[in-house]
Amino acid sequence: MISFENVAKKYDDGTYAVKNFNLHINEGELLVLIGPSGSGKTTTLKMINRLIPLTAGYIRIKDKMISDYDIHELRWDIGYVLQQIALFPHMTIEENIAVVPEMKKWDQNKISHRIDELLDMVGLDPKTYRKRLPHELSGGQQQRIGVARALAANPPIILMDEPFSALDPLSREKLQDDLIQLQNNIKKTIVFVTHDMSEALKLGDRICLMRNGEVVQTGSPEELLQQPANDFVREFVGIDQSKGEMVDIIEAVHPANPMEMEHLPVISRKVSINGILVLLSEHEQLAVVDGDEKIGTIDRQGMIQILSGRMEAMK
Ligand code: ADP
Repeated sequence: MISFENVAKKYDDGTYAVKNFNLHINEGELLVLIGPSGSGKTTTLKMINRLIPLTAGYIRIKDKMISDYDIHELRWDIGYVLQQIALFPHMTIEENIAVVPEMKKWDQNKISHRIDELLDMVGLDPKTYRKRLPHELSGGQQQRIGVARALAANPPIILMDEPFSALDPLSREKLQDDLIQLQNNIKKTIVFVTHDMSEALKLGDRICLMRNGEVVQTGSPEELLQQPANDFVREFVGIDQSKGEMVDIIEAVHPANPMEMEHLPVISRKVSINGILVLLSEHEQLAVVDGDEKIGTIDRQGMIQILSGRMEAMK
């Protein structure tokens, strides 16, 4: 869907913010770009919708070079969510959401329906919120509007630049959960920038870890956890030092009937981090035992959730 081929970006002062960058992002995938501050994540993201021009290399969307797209077409067909979403302060919520559909000259009925649908989708009651101004919403609610606005004209691609990092931990967690749910339904191609590994593990189908403008490792959360390419990845992922620690996985256990669990390998309710890592690489689903009793199942998503939560707690 989006491919980077030997992409580089040199700023006027000579800094190479991105270099030798190669990455293929699949359709319907949520790809997380992660790395320390200054590693080139935002620059990489902004090159996709041509907010920043490339110095070298190629970026293609659906096999067409981004330079060959009409700039309006490109921007309108790529949703963009920022940390400080900058809703237009004097426009109501419905007007804010309608910006791109208006530019695309959708008819008013269609726009109105779409606003209701989007507000429902991001969990805000249309009747209550349509006519409000941005300052009449909490930070978390404004960020939801930012997501709704990015989705408004149903673009196939969404770019998200640290969209939840200015929020308090509870709102952040809620919006992450909602994004997972939403993505299960809409299956967009999403490029998500964060510097937070627990967020990356929780959200990413794959994670691309950057340092000094280059890719260090790209892989699934499991691959980064289990086969870190080098010490930098190992340290950045940061789970190593707590590998021996015991955790209780009850919060990620789903109820299941005995038949369903009959042929599944088992994992103890109280297990070491390392135990989870090992089992995660081998099994999609396990039966959880508490003493002699099978109490339910845990799946890959649940195991990642436990590891991600552990990292959140270590911060
Ligand atoms: P990240 O998003 O990972 O924090 P950025 O892409 O913002 O990283 O920045 C990568 C590098 O490029 C940093 O060294 C940063 O200082 C530099 N940089 C970013 N924007 C500019 C600019 N407009 N002019 C010069 N250097 C810049």
